[in-house]
Amino acid sequence: MFNKTNKKINILGKTREELYDFFIKIGEEKFRAEQIMKWIYKRYCDDVSLMTDFSKNLKNKLKNIIKIDHLDIESENISQDGTIKWVLKINDQNIETVYIPEINRATLCISSQIGCALNCKFCATSYQGFNRNLNSYEIISQIWYAMKIINDRNNFKLKKITNIVMMGMGEPLLNLKNLVPAIKIILDNYGFGLSKRRITISTAGISPVIKKLGKLIDVKLAISLHAPNDIIRNKIMPINKKYNIKSILLSAKKYISTSKANKGKISIEYIMLNEINDKTEHAYQLINCLKNIPCKINLIPWNPFPYVKYKCSNFNKINNFYKILIKHGITTTIRKQRGIDIKAACGQLSGNVINRINKRNIINF
Ligand code: SF4
Repeated sequence: MFNKTNKKINILGKTREELYDFFIKIGEEKFRAEQIMKWIYKRYCDDVSLMTDFSKNLKNKLKNIIKIDHLDIESENISQDGTIKWVLKINDQNIETVYIPEINRATLCISSQIGCALNCKFCATSYQGFNRNLNSYEIISQIWYAMKIINDRNNFKLKKITNIVMMGMGEPLLNLKNLVPAIKIILDNYGFGLSKRRITISTAGISPVIKKLGKLIDVKLAISLHAPNDIIRNKIMPINKKYNIKSILLSAKKYISTSKANKGKISIEYIMLNEINDKTEHAYQLINCLKNIPCKINLIPWNPFPYVKYKCSNFNKINNFYKILIKHGITTTIRKQRGIDIKAACGQLSGNVINRINKRNIINF
């Protein structure tokens, strides 16, 4: 890991195993990896000279070969409902991360890519185009910074982050290479130390990668289904033409069959779009398409952003849809709209993406 070009290694975003290897390679004891992780992830320290359990010699040695680099915050917006949106700077682009406090917990919604290539018609991120995958240090930076801010502002009584959802900008399963190490750090007791039941990967449904994921990591899985049949889904989520509803649900069913994090149920996300997917017949089609799938459904009122033709379903339609699902024994919730006044609600994240890459190169991985 340490290269001879004298380029400093960024320790943020390296897993414990990678750090063990690193410390052994530089002639130090393996346990130094655990010590440095505690400083970074428990005390939010990014300065080796403050790490009091390292000798002066070791500090000097480390200062010459490592750095603890993180993204910086470009701006912060606080909603009337307590939601906070942070815009993080990556050179001339930026990504968005959202903190959502509730009564007994606080969730951090993080991004996995700069932009998104999947082109879902109801999503603000897709209109920004796609630039590149975030690397693991950029994924971890979002959590590190948010936790540090909350820790530093404890006089404001901000709730500690208890849950992480990969529902921000990007399709996480198209960035597995960087996502898996990041999740290992989130789960690691020397890292952020969160439980697997408190981490959710939300995917538009990249079937082959869902299958691969089960061999790599066990966290909660949410499928952004958003349509009760392939005809509607093809129109609003073009990725469905490559991986249809049946293939996605089969892969997801297989994933949860070996998962402890999901407690035997897949979360299905269903955005409510007026006259598109919210009719009574759609509720029955959805029940039919999920009939052999152990799941719970989260109905999400669509959050507006400029230049698109969609409208959110009204309260009566959402309620009618909800009642039909409940009557058929499906656990269903209606998501509360949060952070809408600061454009931090579900589907509203856009960041600033300089689109340099042909989207087709990304989807045909
Ligand atoms: S909904 Fe998710 S997968 Fe679809 S374009 Fe938006 S960020 Fe990408």
